[in-house]
Amino acid sequence: MTVLLYSQEFLRHRPGEDHPESPQRLRAIVDALKREGSWYSPRVKVIHPSPCREEELLGVHDPSYLQLLGRMEEEGGELDSDTPVRRGTGERIRLAAGAAVEAGRGVASGRWENAFALTRPPGHHAGRRSGGGFCYLNNVALMVDRVRREFGLRRILILDLDAHHGNGTQEIFYRDPGVLYLSLHQDPRTLYPWCGFIHELGEGEGEGFNVNVPLPPGSGEGEYACAMGEIFLPLVEEFRPELVAVSLGLDSLRDDPLTQLELLPSSYAWLTGMIVEGARGCGARVAMVLEGGYAPASVGKAVVEVVRVMLEGRGPPPPPPSEVKAVEELKKLLRPHWRL
Ligand SMILES: [Zn+2]
Repeated sequence: MTVLLYSQEFLRHRPGEDHPESPQRLRAIVDALKREGSWYSPRVKVIHPSPCREEELLGVHDPSYLQLLGRMEEEGGELDSDTPVRRGTGERIRLAAGAAVEAGRGVASGRWENAFALTRPPGHHAGRRSGGGFCYLNNVALMVDRVRREFGLRRILILDLDAHHGNGTQEIFYRDPGVLYLSLHQDPRTLYPWCGFIHELGEGEGEGFNVNVPLPPGSGEGEYACAMGEIFLPLVEEFRPELVAVSLGLDSLRDDPLTQLELLPSSYAWLTGMIVEGARGCGARVAMVLEGGYAPASVGKAVVEVVRVMLEGRGPPPPPPSEVKAVEELKKLLRPHWRL
């Protein structure tokens, strides 16, 4: 059973006129899944999520930050110029976080083969006490935190495929050896949030458990195949996660207006194939959460590929890898920690 978590409430979050993080992104995804039919497949279940509870939020976020969000909702405010807080924002961000948590719970409990929380707003730029970059609550971090507490999972791998580095997720788990954070993103010298370099490897007990793969602008299938084959698969094999949580950003697509990467909707078929097959190799399951992706014309096509491969449990073979200099340098830095 593949479960999609979705609510029409997510369409009511409107950060502004002409804002790239528009309801249209998610509407395009749902429309594409309905058109292609997987929305109605007997092996797919669409579930309406419940909002994340306060004590669940406190597993990740600082009380003072939650109070700040509450105050901003009353008085009006913004986390940055792209991330406004308005009346109703709190309800919607808790619902998005709740969808992510439920995706993790359903998969970690063994009830569902895999799950995909089709949420907005995204979350991976939100830290323990900060938000911004269209993000308020860190949906994937809340999912990971809950399944660890509720199911006692000891090893979780977060794969972040958004074109932007997930600085919030990195910050939350930076000293934590139970969560291996692996992010593939556009070179942060050229893109928000301007961090996510190869030498950011984690701290203290968490050293070696934070892995950034910056890809030069213009990178496409070959570069992703290299990063997935040379870094993701060996790490999965050695770390043996009990859950693979995916921050699925779709802003690495060629026609995304905010980034300069070159993936195609069809690229997400083999990427998802590598994820589900890699996870299965160590007995883990996959829970996905939607992050960015700002080209309504192609995000739907990409998600159709993702869901089809989640259902089939296997994807097409990846294309031949291209050499990526940062991957070679990163492997040297990781050798004290991992057999790469
Ligand atoms: Zn992004």
